[in-house]
Amino acid sequence: MKRKQFLVIGLGRFGSGVARTLHELGHEVIAIDSRDEPVQEMLGQVTQAAIADATDETVLRNFGVSSFDAVIVAIGSNIEANIYTTIAAKDAGAKYIVCKAVDDISKRILLKIGADKVIRPENDSGVQLARNLASPKLLGQIELTNEFSVIELEATPNITGKLERVQRGGVQILAHARAEVVGLTPSDIQVGDKLILLGRKAELEKLRQSVSD
Ligand code: ATP
Repeated sequence: MKRKQFLVIGLGRFGSGVARTLHELGHEVIAIDSRDEPVQEMLGQVTQAAIADATDETVLRNFGVSSFDAVIVAIGSNIEANIYTTIAAKDAGAKYIVCKAVDDISKRILLKIGADKVIRPENDSGVQLARNLASPKLLGQIELTNEFSVIELEATPNITGKLERVQRGGVQILAHARAEVVGLTPSDIQVGDKLILLGRKAELEKLRQSVSD
């Protein structure tokens, strides 16, 4: 795996979790926060931890913000600092900016000013939990764009005909898995397999509803 470089800004619960995990996965992580305490706690758990005000574009340029594979702006409740930091990172040439937002209006603002991806961790995990509870056969979901998703769905006894129908609607069966065995041939699918499907959200939603009924 290629070692990547990440700049994590804001070391609250979310930012410190992202920074620590990326470092544990073998990547180079520079973590910054405007307060001393979270920086002290991060020392030794990332490549470098430093106290800095990320709303200052010069500060970000000095960290070499344009050379990171991704910049994660993990400042949530202080939306002003989040916006200023995102603009500063964008102006300083950041290649890919992921922001944390606490509400939908912040999310929309951050996307407008140049964030490449905005997540709302509490909302997003709540939505995921609700989907899983309402539809236990839906094991996971990754939103690729506003239109397309990848979903992980358990194969039910009634799924075969439905799969053929959604395939005609453009859904692709990327793989199916059982225990440690991964298959790529749709005709080998058995009840209980995990299916990994790529397609338009509307088609995937129809399939999810029909196997949950
Ligand atoms: P969490 O829920 O992840 O704990 P939060 O959204 O409640 O975080 P925030 O107050 O938004 O927390 O801030 C997250 C971190 O970002 C804090 O540790 C804070 O010190 C840091 N931070 C705030 N402003 C800046 C800034 N301008 N530059 C760098 N770090 C900042």
